[in-house]
Amino acid sequence: MTARRLLLLGPPGAGKGTQAIRLANQLGIPQISTGDMLRAAVAAGSEIGKTAQAHMDAGELVPDHVVIGVAEERLGQSDATDGFILDGFPRTRAQAEALDGLLPKLGCKLECCIALTVDPEELVARLLKRAEIEGRADDNEKAIRTRMAVYEEKTEPLIDHYRAKSILALVDGLGEVDEVAVRITAALG
Ligand code: AMP
Repeated sequence: MTARRLLLLGPPGAGKGTQAIRLANQLGIPQISTGDMLRAAVAAGSEIGKTAQAHMDAGELVPDHVVIGVAEERLGQSDATDGFILDGFPRTRAQAEALDGLLPKLGCKLECCIALTVDPEELVARLLKRAEIEGRADDNEKAIRTRMAVYEEKTEPLIDHYRAKSILALVDGLGEVDEVAVRITAALG
């Protein structure tokens, strides 16, 4: 049976969000993106949004306790009981450990971590292009370089965390959206 409790890991600009949405639709499970939830909090002007905004605009991580709270609340909602795809969470060791502690309480465990691999220079080019199209505040070149450095320092080590649990699938993220989607489906096979 295909795994239904998934995590998509990958550097900024690797196409995580796009692939997460496709996979969520394909499997009939919710995509849980902490980035989307934080952007909604910023737009709503909530306390969480106020805390998050400066970090996000600078391309830095929002503090662990804030993001862990947001993710825990979302994972506890009823539509996540039959599966979910985490997109952009966890991003630090503390977040991964919080998730390891939370899922057994919800009566489940992570079944697969798909890690997208893409050459960093290719990613910076992609992000700059997205900046032109979408005008995201965190898509200026300085913030992009910060996000890439933060990924390498804080998030990339999580690949080993999931390798050690024997649930890691490395997927080449270079190429057209459809090609990458086929590789992901094959990896879940
Ligand atoms: P994303 O849309 O996933 O690229 O997230 C956009 C921004 O939201 C990131 O650059 C961070 O500032 C913040 N963010 C999203 N998810 C997390 C997380 N798990 N931990 C810390 N910050 C996060």
